[in-house]
Parts: sequence; structure tokens; C-alpha cells
Amino acid sequence: MTTEFRALPSVDRLLAHPLVQRIAETYQREAVLAAVRRHLERAREGVAQGESAPSLEALAEGVAHEVASLWQPGPRPVINATGVILHTNLGRAPLSEEALSAVAEAARGYSNLELDVEEGERGSRQQHVGHLLAQLTGAEAALVVNNNAAAVALGLAALARSKEVIVSRGEAVEIGGGFRIPDVLHQSGAALVDVGTTNRTYVQDYQRAITPNAGAILKVHTSNFRIVGFVHEPTLQELAALGREHSIPVLYDLGSGCLLETEHFGLAHEPTPQESIRAGADLVFFSGDKLLGGPQAGIVVGKQALVAQLSKHPLARALRIDKLDLAALSATLLHYLKGEATRKVPVWQMVSKSPRELEAKAQSWAALVGQQTEAIQGHSTVGGGSLPGETLPTWLVAINAQGLPGAAQGLARRLRQGNPPIITRIVDERVVVDPRTVLPHEEPSLVQALRAALGQL
Ligand SMILES: *Cc1c(COP(=O)(O)O)cnc(C)c1O
Repeated sequence: MTTEFRALPSVDRLLAHPLVQRIAETYQREAVLAAVRRHLERAREGVAQGESAPSLEALAEGVAHEVASLWQPGPRPVINATGVILHTNLGRAPLSEEALSAVAEAARGYSNLELDVEEGERGSRQQHVGHLLAQLTGAEAALVVNNNAAAVALGLAALARSKEVIVSRGEAVEIGGGFRIPDVLHQSGAALVDVGTTNRTYVQDYQRAITPNAGAILKVHTSNFRIVGFVHEPTLQELAALGREHSIPVLYDLGSGCLLETEHFGLAHEPTPQESIRAGADLVFFSGDKLLGGPQAGIVVGKQALVAQLSKHPLARALRIDKLDLAALSATLLHYLKGEATRKVPVWQMVSKSPRELEAKAQSWAALVGQQTEAIQGHSTVGGGSLPGETLPTWLVAINAQGLPGAAQGLARRLRQGNPPIITRIVDERVVVDPRTVLPHEEPSLVQALRAALGQL
């Protein structure tokens, strides 16, 4: 064992290795030295447990790899080959070219973010985007904050602090990432009054729960699950009428914020902000980066007086949207106003890809990747807490990984650990790649990575 310890190089010797020297030219000396010490320490522990000493070469490679990956900017781009369009772990919606340019421009220099250039006075960062949202949804006013979770929390804090908020038992839900309606209400200082049952709630249930201390009626779109069978919920019109009768605001957390009619794309109907405003909701809350296809943002649209109450609340400043998201959001909203969303917004380009186009892609990739590979029919999903259970027919490249190390799991792992990482699915013991969510510029590296992983390069 002592000979094994002696086989380990000294700190200076490992530092002097050409591989380590080369990274030391690029990265801070302290960072390289720390990595050298860490790797030697780990090797010593290994030897103490009876392992043999790693070679100088292996140690140097380990140090170089670790330092280089620590200093990589993150998050790193990955190729989403899962066919899940709004993949929460992969950053939800990719932005349009126009939104990207708007971000770059807003980031590169100064902007009129909070300056009224006509009058030379202080302006509001909300003004421009507010106009766009009012036009698109028919609402009187709008407010944009950091994300939809923040928007809902702000709405409840501003309108219902120390008051009761009436919620159907079927809608006191968890959205994911720790966003649970009862907890958000609690944090906002509002008291939850749950009415009805898990599967059936009537407008009379809400009515009976109204007390002089009622602050709001909150409706929540159950965006990530579906209850089917013996179910009932009042329409938004009924709730709006009830709210008006008792002068209680009706708030609707929509989740996705889909501005297009999903049934035109062969999907179930996803409620839209514009129809919710028409139905009489006082405030409607939705995300910027779900089916809207823009940046992370939380959007509130509705009655002028209520929006003003939210804007004035101290939390509004803490939750405000930054200039880069604002630039991306207004560029995205413009696509809808110009009627070009399905052509320009990546999420909608993906939703509207035709089966024929997807089949052609899958066939040509399968041919390029070669043996053990075929194009088969399958399903993509919208994901991101939208349209649960709904699928879009697609074509997949299915790769038979039998005989390869670790079979399908092993192949999926190697693809994930590649550069760029490729995220796939496994269906029936095969690794499948869905062209629907692969962006055009990613195609060459995807095909090349698949060939390499199958040992064909
Ligand atoms: C997704 C979702 C949220 C949270 O929105 P974020 O923009 O992710 O903060 C809130 N409510 C519902 C109903 C949702 O679907």
C-alpha cells in the first residue's frame, strides 16, 4: 500500500503536467491548484481503501475536465428530443428570433425602460406592454411581474389580506415546483374558504360561503391534471355574476395564458385570457413562458382599479419584471397582434408541425443514422402544466439499443452526457427521438451525435 501512495504524484508534478499547464493559462491559478489538491486527496482516499493509484495522465485529465466544466457558463444548451414542447426542466418556451433580437438590443445598451422620451419625464416600464396586452385580451389594464406564481401571490396580498378567499375544493391544487394554492393564500395573509367537493362544486356553494369578510372568489385552472366522470363546476359567467352581486372580485388563475384557440390544432380547448375577460373575470393571471411562448413572466389583466391596487402594493416592486424579459415579452406579444404567432413563435411552430413534415424528418434522420433505427408513429405532448392527457400525433426515430452497453438506458445516458446533451425518451425498450421539439439549427449535431453514440463515426 505504501508503494501505491508513493505512486501518486506531488502537487507540483501534477501542476506541471502539460494538460494542467494548458488550463492554467486560461483559468485562475487558485482554481487550478484547488482542483489539483482535490483530485490528489480523492486519489489518496481511494488508495487508503485499497484501490490502485491513478496514473499521472488520468489525474491531469480529471483536473482539466473539472476546471473547464466549472468555468463553463450555465445553463448550457441541450437538445430537447423528448417531444414535450413545454419541458419545465429544459426551460419551457424557446423564444422567437424577434424576441431574441429584442433581448440582445435591450441588454446591449440603454433603453427607454422608464423614461417617457416625448416628455422627458419618468415613465412606466409597464406602459408599452400594457397596451399590447389590453389589445390582445380586451382587458382594461394589465400588469406584468416576474412569473405567474408571483402574480397570483401579489393579487391575493393586494386584494384579500386578512380577508377570506373562496376556492372550490377541486381547485385547491398544487401546480408543481412548490406552488400550492392553500400555501400561497396563507402566505398572502388571506384565509382559504374551500367550498364544494373534489369533483362537484356549484355556484350555490360559493354563494353560501360569502360573508362580510369575503375578499375574493378565486378560480384556478386545473392545468396539470383532469378529473373526468361525475363532475361539475360553475361557469366563469356564473361566478362573475355572483361576484358582481356581492361586490367581490373574481380572480382567475389561468396558468398557461394561451392566446390562440387550441382546438384549431387538434387539441382540447384551453381557456384563453380573452374569453375569461369576456366572461366577466375581474382579474386573470397567466404565465409568459407556457403556451404564450415568451419569456418567464407573470401577467395580470383585468379591471383598471384592481390592477392599480396591485401596482401600488409594495410587493409589486419586489416582484417586478426585468428589462430583458420585458423586451422578449413585448416582441412575443407583437407576433400575436400581427397574426403571425403560428409562424414565428417556436412553441406554436412546434404545435402546428404537420404529421407529414414530421414523418419526412424522422425518415431522413433514421436513414442517416442507419442500422438499428426506424421511423415509427408516436405521440408528442404540450407539457408544462398545460393540456393534461392531450397528445399530438408525431413520428419518432426509434433506436434499438440491444447489444449496446446498458441497452436503452445506457444509450439515453450517453446521449445526455454528450456535448450538447441530447434528452430523449425510452419507449418499449427503444430510445426515441421526436423531431417536433428539435429546432432547425440543432439537426446536424443531433444526427451526428446519434451516429457517434451508435459507433458509426
Ligand atoms: C404554471 C402555473 C402557475 C405558475 O406559473 P409560473 O409562471 O410558473 O410561476 C400558477 N398557476 C397555474 C394554474 C399554473 O398552471
